[in-house]
Amino acid sequence: MLRPKPRDHFEEFHLKKREAKRDFRITELRVYRESIAFYTCRRKSQTIAYMRYIKFVAKAAVIMVVAVTSCKKDADVVPDLSGVEDQFKEYVVRFAAEAKARNVSVNLTKLNIKAVSQRISVGGTSYCGYTFSALPADVNIQIADLSGCWSDIADTNKEILIFHELGHGILNRSHLDDNLPNGLRKSIMYSGYLFNMYYAAQTSLRKYYLDELFNINTPTPAFALPAVNSKILLQDPILSFADWGFNKTNQSLTHTADITNTVYASSGNSLMLQSSEASAVSGSYSYLYRKFPVKDVSAASGVTLKVKVKTDNLVGGASIVIRADYQGQIAGYGTTQDVIDLTGTRDFTEYSTKIKCFPDLADTLLYTCSYMAMLPARYILMTSWSPTNFSRG
Ligand SMILES: [Zn+2]
Repeated sequence: MLRPKPRDHFEEFHLKKREAKRDFRITELRVYRESIAFYTCRRKSQTIAYMRYIKFVAKAAVIMVVAVTSCKKDADVVPDLSGVEDQFKEYVVRFAAEAKARNVSVNLTKLNIKAVSQRISVGGTSYCGYTFSALPADVNIQIADLSGCWSDIADTNKEILIFHELGHGILNRSHLDDNLPNGLRKSIMYSGYLFNMYYAAQTSLRKYYLDELFNINTPTPAFALPAVNSKILLQDPILSFADWGFNKTNQSLTHTADITNTVYASSGNSLMLQSSEASAVSGSYSYLYRKFPVKDVSAASGVTLKVKVKTDNLVGGASIVIRADYQGQIAGYGTTQDVIDLTGTRDFTEYSTKIKCFPDLADTLLYTCSYMAMLPARYILMTSWSPTNFSRG
């Protein structure tokens, strides 16, 4: 006789579940009886055997309850985040996991993080994030939910910001503005601009900063020590303009770019970026760039770009940039912007900039010269890229 077809999948599921349960019980009982037979006297009565069975089941139940409870405790790294607004929870959970990975216990039960709609003004300075009180008191942190502070910044920068504030509130850490020997900031507890202290692809650098956050006595990492075994990775003699890309961030800029063999420093050629008239477009610039596949660069080493630059009546300013990318995203960065003044008229001078901790993950090495035109009119920038040395160290 055919069994009636189950009415729906739900019913079928329960039917199968019941069958499975019954089969399991039978199997379990058989196993039990065999094991009883193994270790009890043959003359034990069925009653005693049954009582032992009950004890066995009770014991198993206790073990299961304990196991379930311990699993819960293990998974429960973050006990209660009711005071933390949803958009920040992911970073607090990450903080707890990083603490646990380093055997540091953190108390997050008094943590409150809330978003505010304006930059937080304290003592005449405005902040993207601010910690108003630390453990053992209630921890009160505010984050400005604004462009440039939170709403549109990269995941890594959100992590840096929240971890810095939790450093104050949960770990009771103060600011630390020291530098490592290679010029990188020593700590995520730096009091100034924090964003892009590390990129996601800089896994060695991130690990160091998190080690230091949870243990202020973390030793100086090897990558920050003075360089040894420096070598030239590449020299670019600037043979063809076709090797280069040229972009304008605003098409109304009157900048042009070319290669020249009349003004040069070392190789007989140089690249030229120029503007024939005033083209003041605030925040806009043009840039020349060249890309190479990454090879023969050790992760976490320093990579330096050296460029010879000649300027002529340059008013807006220029900067030299070295960048490593991974899958089209910035993975490491170095620039002369705000570090070296590249304006006015100056003969060929060598300038350098550096990626201080080369990303562990990188597939493209890129260098560029950016030219920012502002006021007033007629200035020319001559750039020689030869020789261009990428060197470890
Ligand atoms: Zn701070």
